Amino acid sequence: MQAFYSDRFVLPLPPGHRFPMEKYQLLRDRLNADLPQLRMLQAPEASEGELALAHEPAYIQAIAEGTVDAKILREIGFPWSPAMAARARRSVGGTVAAGRAAMAEGLAANLAGGTHHSYAHKGGGFCVFNDMAVTARVLQVEWGRRHGSRATPLQVAIIDLDVHQGNGTASIFKNDRSVFTLSLHGEKNFPFRKEDSDIDVALPDGCTDGDYLAALENALLELEGRFDPGVVLYLAGADPHEGDRLGRLKISYDGMQARDRRIFDWCFTRRLPCAFAMGGGYGSNIQTTLQVQANTYAVALEYWQRWQG
Ligand SMILES: [Zn+2]
Repeated sequence: MQAFYSDRFVLPLPPGHRFPMEKYQLLRDRLNADLPQLRMLQAPEASEGELALAHEPAYIQAIAEGTVDAKILREIGFPWSPAMAARARRSVGGTVAAGRAAMAEGLAANLAGGTHHSYAHKGGGFCVFNDMAVTARVLQVEWGRRHGSRATPLQVAIIDLDVHQGNGTASIFKNDRSVFTLSLHGEKNFPFRKEDSDIDVALPDGCTDGDYLAALENALLELEGRFDPGVVLYLAGADPHEGDRLGRLKISYDGMQARDRRIFDWCFTRRLPCAFAMGGGYGSNIQTTLQVQANTYAVALEYWQRWQG
């Protein structure tokens, strides 16, 4: 299975910053050790043209040139630097590449990405550009080129199981019926002003495995009743895990893995290609986040092998 990394593009953070930038390289090291069957590839940069499928040109330019409004930068939570802009493009490029690989092989991943708090005109919550929004639109354009302009557009379902609501994604696709957004998140987690996804499931503090998996099942049933996807983009956030210091849910390792298995199985039984990205993960001990993520890859690899027949 192809897995795209961008951890060589590190953005300098002031000492004591609460974003665990080291987790990307640690995840790659961990996966190289545990799952040598993964094909690790460096994520390409998303082009300006690709970014512009989901973002306003003025915002793309402001990030490139370092002229972003100070208020937006504060909302993003990273200081601007050329490295910050470069990293943001790679993080999107990794999901775009994973999307293309999934269309060819069934399943593929980005070791970063999941930047769902980014809107068309601004970033927020450690997210500069919205990788899944850009990927959905890139795949639709490429599908349109292959099938002609009169074909039904590729229908994309974005299943966002990060503990934080996918507010940016919901906003970008608010009036787009070809992209369905599902977000299962902590009711009291950031963002405090949520946007309307096609399906939102807000879970109470302390939610445990049984309730979580039942809520996921209901959401998938509803999705299936309302939408007929041709591809799934899955945001496999590790932050619903009980060891997370930002998430307010109490999902165990087994619960997290059952969640991932449900998504990969749901896609596989419908023969829906699936690209996934990691999103949040802020373990009080970073090793717990890495364990949750490594478990996601182990299950994904099983399903990728099934795709290969
Ligand atoms: Zn999150």
